[in-house]
Amino acid sequence: MMRFDILTIFPHILDSYLEEGILARAEKKGLIRINFHNLRDYTNDKHRTTDDKPFGGGPGMVMMVGPIYEALQALASRSKRQRSRIILLSPRGKRFDQKAVQRLSKYEQLILICGRYEGVDERVAQHLVDEVISIGNYVLSGGELPAMVIIEAVARLVPGVLGNEESLISESHGSQVLDFPQYTRPAVFKAKEAKTWRVPRILLSGNHKKIQEWRDKHRKNP
Ligand code: SAM
Repeated sequence: MMRFDILTIFPHILDSYLEEGILARAEKKGLIRINFHNLRDYTNDKHRTTDDKPFGGGPGMVMMVGPIYEALQALASRSKRQRSRIILLSPRGKRFDQKAVQRLSKYEQLILICGRYEGVDERVAQHLVDEVISIGNYVLSGGELPAMVIIEAVARLVPGVLGNEESLISESHGSQVLDFPQYTRPAVFKAKEAKTWRVPRILLSGNHKKIQEWRDKHRKNP
C-alpha cells in the first residue's frame, strides 16, 4: 500500500477527479491511499490564517511556515515507520520527469505540500522538505494539480494499479524510449480526402514480425 498525503488549503479541489478512473480503482483495491489535510486545521488563530504579507513588501500573500510545520509534525507522529519523502511543489523546483517517477515509486509514503498565492515561506524548502519539484516551466495558481500529476505518474508504477502489466513495459519513458504510434478502428477514415488518414497497411497485415519492426522503427528517443 502506497500512501499519498496532500497538504493544501483546498482539500476538496480534486475530489471529482479521484472519483473515477485508475486512481479510484486503485484506492478501492487498497493499493494506494490518498489523504488530503487541510492546512487550516493546523492554525491556532480565530481566522485559521495560513498566509501573510511578504517581508520586504510586494504584492500578494505568502503561505506561512507554521501551519505547514504543524501538519508535518502531526503526520510524522502518525506514520513513524514508513519510508517517506516530503515534497514541496514549486515552479522553482527540480523539473519532474519519468526518472523521478521511478525513484519516488520506491517510497511507502509521499507527502506533498501545495503552495498558493505568491508561494511558500522559503524556510519550508530550507528546513522541512526532502526535495522541491516543479512539473514544468510555467506557473499555475496552486500546487494541487502538480501534486496530482506526481501521484498519478507514481501510482501507475505501484504493482497491480494498471490492469494490464504489459502496458507498463512498452509504455513511453518506461524504457527511456517513447511508445510507438497506435491506431484502432476504423481502418479507413476520411479516405476520400487524404491518404494520410489511412492506418499504415502493415498494422493490418497480421504479420507480427513486420508489425514489430514497424513499431520499433517508429519509436522515438525523448
Ligand atoms: N511566485 C511564485 C514563483 O514564481 O515561484 C509562484 C507561486 S504559484 C502562483 C502558487 C503555487 O502553485 C506555488 O507555491 C506552487 O506550489 C504551485 N505551482 C505553480 N506552478 C507550479 C509548477 N510549475 N510546478 C509545481 N508547482 C507549481
